[in-house]
Amino acid sequence: MRKVKAKKYLGQHFLKDLSIAEEIVSQITLKENTILEIGPGMGVLTQFLVDKNKDLHVIEIDKESVFYLRLHYPKLKIIEGDFLKLNLNIFENNISIIGNFPYNISSQILFKAFENRDKVTEVVGMFQKEVAERIASIKGKKKGILSVLLQAFYDIEYCFEVDNHLFDPPPKVKSGVIKMKRNSRKKLECDEKTFIKIVKAGYNQRRKTLRNSLKSFTLNSNSEIDILLQKRAEQLDVEAFIFLTKNVQ
Ligand code: SAH
Repeated sequence: MRKVKAKKYLGQHFLKDLSIAEEIVSQITLKENTILEIGPGMGVLTQFLVDKNKDLHVIEIDKESVFYLRLHYPKLKIIEGDFLKLNLNIFENNISIIGNFPYNISSQILFKAFENRDKVTEVVGMFQKEVAERIASIKGKKKGILSVLLQAFYDIEYCFEVDNHLFDPPPKVKSGVIKMKRNSRKKLECDEKTFIKIVKAGYNQRRKTLRNSLKSFTLNSNSEIDILLQKRAEQLDVEAFIFLTKNVQ
């Protein structure tokens, strides 16, 4: 059968390199989980996943790819639709999400993992390299809102880079693979909504000191807080943001 024609608006860049596909799949470690692949396309990852786990599901929005997959993988459990609209509670077990993700919705995929963090206990996947590095970086300029939120609940590791020319068509940007595994934190030791507001406010004006970017919050005043407020958001780790949140009046 003919190959699927790559559609730009669906972020379709098909990985050609089979050894990299196998390497990505091998990053999944939680054996008892259901595996959910987002955007299998023509199944370059799927072919390695089918051997790995009995409870494998894929979700694909593109009709042409779904048609292709049905022909080549008649037994595969395919959900035809948009991952962002999928209710993850239809799965009984915890989930490992995997994919060479469509880059146009990568942040939304990660937010959805964050929101469903007690269900989504593992994420392995390919992102635009910059996004992958940002999510995995603990400190420094590359960090962003999502890095802090995700790092609160996941151990995140940057695995390796994948060159543009290994895709058809090649994307303009380089790609990077990360893996995230749920850590042992059950809950934040502070109000979660306030925590998210503080992280967002800090990063939305990331060049400013926190004293300026967090002006709209009333914080307790003590020497530890004073030291933190002299810093910028990117200089704080998860624990420091939790400490700040606990000190909001
Ligand atoms: N995994 C394949 C394809 C990667 S391209 C490979 O590595 O070759 C990204 C894939 O995600 C495409 O197949 C695209 O159709 C699919 N996709 C895009 N948006 C989606 C969404 N909202 N939900 C599910 N799949 C989506």
